[in-house]
Amino acid sequence: MVNRRQVIVVGSGPSGSSAAFYLARGGVDVLLVDKESWPRDKACGDAQGGVFVTKVYKDMGIYDEALRLRSGGIRGARFSGVKEELATFDNGAEQPGTFLTQRRVIDDLLRRGAINGGADFLENFEVTEIIRERDYAKGVRAIYGGKEVEIRSDIVILANGAHHDLGRPFGIYNDDKDYVFLGARGYFEGVRGLVPGLIEEHYPDEIFYPGGYMWCFVEGEGTANVGVFIPEENLKRGNRRLEDYFTWWRDNTKIGQERLGEARLLGEIKGWRLPTCRKVPDNIYGNGILAVGDAGSHINCYSGAGFEYALQSGYAAARTVIDVLPKGDVSKEVLKAYKDLDASISDPLLKMNTAVRDKLCGDPQTYEEFLSFARSMPNYPHLNQYMAYIAFMTQAKKVDIKAEYGLDLSAMSGGGGH
Ligand SMILES: Cc1cc2nc3c(=O)[nH]c(=O)nc-3n(C[C@H](O)[C@H](O)[C@H](O)COP(=O)(O)OP(=O)(O)OC[C@H]3O[C@@H](n4cnc5c(N)ncnc54)[C@H](O)[C@@H]3O)c2cc1C
Repeated sequence: MVNRRQVIVVGSGPSGSSAAFYLARGGVDVLLVDKESWPRDKACGDAQGGVFVTKVYKDMGIYDEALRLRSGGIRGARFSGVKEELATFDNGAEQPGTFLTQRRVIDDLLRRGAINGGADFLENFEVTEIIRERDYAKGVRAIYGGKEVEIRSDIVILANGAHHDLGRPFGIYNDDKDYVFLGARGYFEGVRGLVPGLIEEHYPDEIFYPGGYMWCFVEGEGTANVGVFIPEENLKRGNRRLEDYFTWWRDNTKIGQERLGEARLLGEIKGWRLPTCRKVPDNIYGNGILAVGDAGSHINCYSGAGFEYALQSGYAAARTVIDVLPKGDVSKEVLKAYKDLDASISDPLLKMNTAVRDKLCGDPQTYEEFLSFARSMPNYPHLNQYMAYIAFMTQAKKVDIKAEYGLDLSAMSGGGGH
């Protein structure tokens, strides 16, 4: 095993695979490692979408295979609040670049895309520590093949997801109680009332505000990925375990009863942590180290979506490293360019979602106002949910989203998925 590389990427989820692929394509010597045997599972709603998802799949040459492997695309969404009256946003046709694909499948395709692009890969390689010398990251220590190993590098990219602790010595960690969520999902069969192509998010109790919900994403005939997403603080207040929300929803709500009343769980319910953010966070870089994806809290605080941001941050990290490496300076001051590039790509949509969290799903009553406002819009239900969000905030709530959130709508792209 080579014990010196230019870059080591820790974690081969979407963020790590994206970073490793663009680095290898840029001629950088890169080693991608993951502690699991692949393919591995990941608790997720399995929804992917947005301009960047298409870009990465196309750049990697996996777009057609990703289309073939998905269970479906996304045409729109249905939402409900405490009154359990649905609002539907049906674009009429499938939104380009949207995918519902189990993560065991799509993450493996991305990982293979990175390898085919030129990255070296080791599985069952568990990083235990980032080597730190004079406050610079200098490589990793790990358990591999039952032994302790050390590989040195010029830069380490942390892509090890939401449960990570490795970045703490460099100040890279998010434990902001208002923005850390917990989520869990199960695959169910016999789910009633779903419409193929329309994903569903339900906010039936005040415990879900702001920014938490029960979801149902159709997988196939009567089968769905069903889940719960809830702020950690609310979960504590609710005095219920995360997995109890499935039976609670079924037994206490009309829509939950319809969806899960006769449904059967396939396999097990799996939970995970979601460190979310309002905009790209500041603490995602240090001397010789960058954090991408969930390791850098790239999850939006309204919907819990992080897949596209994982790909975006991996791309931004790789672009920065390709520029910086030949100059021989990997100090924090120089690597700040990563955060700036990442923010220029990711912030418009993150800020949009933050505005939605603040102005529309902060409390049950405002959310009901939004749903009835949307139902009264011209062309309803054939409209995009983001158009409805903007109309509600600017017309009904008189929010100046440019002044308050720095949101320039003309600079926004993406918005597929959820
Ligand atoms: C319940 C739930 C539902 C969600 N639904 C959606 C959704 O529908 N759409 C969406 O866009 N987002 C969703 N998200 C968020 C999304 O799953 C994440 O944002 C995304 O997986 C981030 O990718 P990542 O590559 O940063 O991390 P991960 O996908 O978590 O990958 C991290 C990798 O690092 C590896 N690793 C960890 N520690 C080490 C170590 N010490 N050494 C080596 N390897 C290590 C892990 O094995 C793993 O493969 C959801 C999250 C949850 C919890």
